[in-house]
Amino acid sequence: MKDKTSYNSNYYDKTEFLFESDAEKAALNEATKPKKTKLYKKIIINCIIISFMIIGGFYSFNILQINKLNASIIKSNSNKTNEEKMNKSSDNLEIIKNNKNKYELIINKSNPLDEYTLNNYVIVDVYNNAFDNIKLEKKTFNEYIKLKANLLERGYFINIKSGYRTFDESNEIYNYYKEKNGLDYAEKYVAKPGISEHNAGIAFDFTISDNKSILTTDYKSDEYLYLEKIAYLYGFIIRYPKGKENITGYQYEPWHLRYVGKDLAKYLTKNNLTLEEYYKTKE
Ligand SMILES: [Zn+2]
Repeated sequence: MKDKTSYNSNYYDKTEFLFESDAEKAALNEATKPKKTKLYKKIIINCIIISFMIIGGFYSFNILQINKLNASIIKSNSNKTNEEKMNKSSDNLEIIKNNKNKYELIINKSNPLDEYTLNNYVIVDVYNNAFDNIKLEKKTFNEYIKLKANLLERGYFINIKSGYRTFDESNEIYNYYKEKNGLDYAEKYVAKPGISEHNAGIAFDFTISDNKSILTTDYKSDEYLYLEKIAYLYGFIIRYPKGKENITGYQYEPWHLRYVGKDLAKYLTKNNLTLEEYYKTKE
């Protein structure tokens, strides 16, 4: 900085030397000296900037308040619709316990997912898997990796075949089976968007085998029976078990694991309960 200043003053001295007349000198002095008007300009500009900042701050505070208000309205509305739906479906049913954490939530025809709830799930890419392009909810995947390591110690290989599905993908699958096998079949066996646990990424379909290159499952094999026994230790349940078809509304799906967290998984497994029974709600 010092160098630059001295350079500048030298420059001005030399420049001054080039001008002969007093008038020219005066003009040069006027042009080179720091102007008072510059200071005024700075003050005015700063005042304008500060005013804008105050006005902007006021507006963004207001917008924040409006957003908060909207969010709480949306939340209370979605709670209301769920309550209304439940009350409509049966007077005797307990109102869905939506205050449970996002992993304990029941998702089915009577308790569909709304987009507000969906935003609570962080979706990640699945690695260490035989099938490609699969995504899952973050915690669900982390626990799955631990389960996979446990199985591997015994020489059992588990792989995810199908994980997170967007609403669009669920729609495609539903329409595919509706066209292929008819409406009754699709209604009975295929989950529409919002009523599939796959839409939240907290459930997946898998294969398990004692041979790494076999990507199908024998549901009577040692490896499957072992998985069935230990899944709850990692927070998983067989969501649609045998003998509970009329309660869950789904055929027996031994390949579909749902993450509910360790406490609830343990409780449901030990007491042989489905989520519908636990929440005393309909399929
Ligand atoms: Zn599934």
